[in-house]
Amino acid sequence: MSNIQQFSGYQPTWCPGCGNFARSQALKQALIELGFTPSSIIAVFGIGCAGNENDFLNAYAIHSLHGRAIPNAIGAKLANHKMEVIVITGDGDCYGEGGNHFLHACRGNHDITVIVSDNGVYGLTTGQTAPTSQKGFKTKSTPDGAIEVPINPLTLAISQGATFVGQGFVIELAHLKEIIKAGIKHKGFSLINVLQPCVTFNKINTYNYYRQHTYKLSQDYDKKDINKAFKIAQEMTLKDKFPLGIIYEVNQPTFIDRLPQLKNKTLIGRERFLDFKTILEDFK
Ligand code: SF4
Repeated sequence: MSNIQQFSGYQPTWCPGCGNFARSQALKQALIELGFTPSSIIAVFGIGCAGNENDFLNAYAIHSLHGRAIPNAIGAKLANHKMEVIVITGDGDCYGEGGNHFLHACRGNHDITVIVSDNGVYGLTTGQTAPTSQKGFKTKSTPDGAIEVPINPLTLAISQGATFVGQGFVIELAHLKEIIKAGIKHKGFSLINVLQPCVTFNKINTYNYYRQHTYKLSQDYDKKDINKAFKIAQEMTLKDKFPLGIIYEVNQPTFIDRLPQLKNKTLIGRERFLDFKTILEDFK
């Protein structure tokens, strides 16, 4: 029986030093410690460097279209809500192309875990400005510097109804692993934004930059306090300070909890409805 730690036969193609190596390790360790096997999770990957892990993680997997990882994950969860569904995506895929899906997944409190490799740049397409790039960031797509302010994924998620919002930094591997475990265990929509340098195309948000601009939340931090969560999350935008830990967590009914049709049985495993004749009779 294979386990999650084994590679699928392919080796990672990430650049040496890429933050994806540590993010991937934290996820695998979290899955192993939580007792998951490859056949007990569905991993849905976005497009981008993070999404390439589709080739390296041993699990049921979907490599979705650009920006469409979240709706694929929601579909999988609706089909079989007994399975754990995890999205592995990047900041461009999730907050850019998939931004609309992200908002609606938060407000539906869909019971999926979304892990975003946030490196502030489109790495796979060789370095264009992304939704979390800093204002003024110069790339081939913004040679005079990015005009827009960066998206703040934490405030966005909290304001739209996400019930678990965490942030980790890949250098803090054990800490990141615990946040991922907590996010997976949480019932409801979980966002885990992972700060991880793209060593090839982002020369601003480096390992040293995050060492200097991150801090861990204190033990007595009240993660249920939404006002406090907003204030802490806003520091990223206002003060260039990045909190690490579980920023916000509350218990609310999930999307499926509100569907009595799915209370006792998953959608898969039911007899497929193929006889449309009786329905058509009603329209005659
Ligand atoms: Fe990692 Fe950047 Fe290389 Fe992509 S381009 S593999 S994000 S270092």
